[in-house]
Amino acid sequence: MSNDDAFDLDALVARLPKQTMDDLARMRREAEQAPPVVTALPMPNFMRGGIARYRCLLDCGWFHDENPGLDMPGPLLLPADFTSEDLSTAISGAAEVRGKAFAMRVEQAIAAHFAEAHPGR
Ligand SMILES: [Zn+2]
Repeated sequence: MSNDDAFDLDALVARLPKQTMDDLARMRREAEQAPPVVTALPMPNFMRGGIARYRCLLDCGWFHDENPGLDMPGPLLLPADFTSEDLSTAISGAAEVRGKAFAMRVEQAIAAHFAEAHPGR
């Protein structure tokens, strides 16, 4: 088992032309600034350390904490001879998946709380 076989995204990115690197930086910024995929969630309170706290809509004292800072990008899946377009698709796809997973976790936590504490509401 050789390290040469390992997929090294940094090395691949380093070989890309400068223009592509600028594109990549812009696409990353756009992906980061994109609005959340799902907007049905209540507005969280932002706590110390960047924690997003979603409180019960009925004000019963229950809340669900999320730490968006822990939601780090996972590996990107790319073909060996990927183009900057593949890269763009992979980056925005990964951002969308993370946004959906985040919203789903919060929605499920709220739904579980309502089922337990406010049945029928
Ligand atoms: Zn509640």
